[in-house]
Amino acid sequence: MNKQELSKKLLYTKKSVYEKTDAKRIEAAFDYAKGYAAYLDAAKTEREAVAVSIEMAQAKGFKPYTIGQPLQAGDKYYYNNRNKNLFLFVIGTEPIEHGIRINAAHIDSPRLDLKPCPVYEDGGMSFFKTHYYGGIRKYQWVATPLSLHGVIVRNDGTPVTVNIGEDDNDPVFYINDLLPHLGHETDKKPLGEAFPGEKLNILIGSRPYDGEAGSESIKLNTLALLYDKYGITEEDFLTAELELVPAFKTRDIGFDRALIGAYGHDDRVCAYPALTAILAENAPRSTLMCVLADKEETGSEGNTGMKSLLLLDLINEISLALGGNPATVRNNSKCLSADVSCAYDPNFADAFEKRNTPMLSCGVVLTKYTGARGKSSTNDARAEYVGWLRGVMDRAGVVWQTGELGKVDGGGGGTVAKYIANHNIETVDLGVPVISMHAPYEVVSKVDVYEAYLAFSAFSRA
Ligand code: MN
Ligand code: MN
Repeated sequence: MNKQELSKKLLYTKKSVYEKTDAKRIEAAFDYAKGYAAYLDAAKTEREAVAVSIEMAQAKGFKPYTIGQPLQAGDKYYYNNRNKNLFLFVIGTEPIEHGIRINAAHIDSPRLDLKPCPVYEDGGMSFFKTHYYGGIRKYQWVATPLSLHGVIVRNDGTPVTVNIGEDDNDPVFYINDLLPHLGHETDKKPLGEAFPGEKLNILIGSRPYDGEAGSESIKLNTLALLYDKYGITEEDFLTAELELVPAFKTRDIGFDRALIGAYGHDDRVCAYPALTAILAENAPRSTLMCVLADKEETGSEGNTGMKSLLLLDLINEISLALGGNPATVRNNSKCLSADVSCAYDPNFADAFEKRNTPMLSCGVVLTKYTGARGKSSTNDARAEYVGWLRGVMDRAGVVWQTGELGKVDGGGGGTVAKYIANHNIETVDLGVPVISMHAPYEVVSKVDVYEAYLAFSAFSRA
C-alpha cells in the first residue's frame, strides 16, 4: 500500500456537504430552506413558535392530547403546555418498552423583555424599560429596528395578543446610541461595561397628548394610543409578557444565496428540522416524540422549561396507556438534544480550537459534551450511544461532524441534554453550527440545516 492509499484508509478528514454530496442534495437543501425561512418569520417568540407548530401539526393530522386518554399505534398527538412549550408524539408499532425516540429543541431566543412598570418619559421622548433575556452582547441591540411581541393579561384574565413591527406598515421600536462625536469616554470602556442593561430603553414615542407640552404628556399620548388599539391601561403592563425582538425578516446571505440570515436561529434551526421530521412520519416502528422547549436561554427553569416534570409525566402516561413500565421505557429511550453549536469564524480565529470546532457547511454537529472549565455541568454522552448514532447517520448518508464550543477554558455553554439524561434517557447533542450566535441577526448554512433534518429523520427510523 502506498502512502496515498494508506492515508485514505487511515486518516479522518472533514469535508463539506458540497464535497460529499451532489447537486440534487444541495437543491433539496435550498428548497427546504424556503419553508424554514417562512417558519422563522412567523415564529419569532416561543408563543408564536408554539402556535405555528400546532398549525403545521394539525395539517398533518395531529390532535390535541389529554393526559390519561387511551393510545394506540399510529396515533398522532400534540400537547400544548401553556402556549410556550409543545410536545408532539406519534405512537409506533413496536412495543412501547423498546423506548421512545425523542428530539428536543428549544424555541425561546435571546431578546429584551419589558419590566412590569415599563413606561416613562424623559427629554421629549417616551420609553419602555427592559430586562434582557438570555445571554446577549448588549452593544449589538442598540440603533437597530425592533418589534414588540407577546401577551397582556387583563385583571379579568382575558389575554390581548400583541405583534407590532413585523408588517411593513407597522412602526418599529429602537434603542438610542451615543453619537461617535461624543463617544470618546464610552469607547475607552470594556465592551461589556460600555452598554449597561439599564440603558437598553426602548424609544416608543415623542408626540404629546393634544399637542400640549408639560409633564408626562408624551407618556400619556403613548398610553392613549395603546388604549385605543388594545383597550389596555398602564396597570395592565403589570401582568404582561412582552418581548422585543429584531424587526428584520429572514434573508439569503451572500451572492450564492447559500446562507440564511435571521433572528433566532438558536434554536429554531433545530426546532424546525425536528418538527418537520416528526410530521413526515406516518407509521413509525418506534414511538417518536418532539419537544419544543421554552426557557433554555435562562437555564431551563420553570414549568415550560426542560427541568419541569412534564416530560416525565408524558412518558409515564404514554407508557401506562400502552401497557409498558415507565422506568423500562425511559431506560430504553434515546434522545437528541437538538441545539446549535458555534461555527468556526476566521474573523475571531483566536476564540476557537480549529481542529475541534464545527465548520460551516460541513453538516450537522454531534457534540458529545458541552460545559465549561473541565466539562463542568455537561451531559458527556457515553461512547456506546455516540457510536450507535454515528452508525445510524453514516448508513443514512448524513453529512455530520463533531464539535466543541470554543477553546478549553475560553467559554462554554449548556443545553437541555443533561436534564433529559438525568431521567435515565440516552442523550447527546446534535445541531446546526451558527455564525454570530445570540446576535440580533444570526447566520447558518442551508446545507447544514438540511443535514440536521436528514439526521433527525434517520434517528427516528433507526
Ligand atoms: Mn440553544
Ligand atoms: Mn442559546
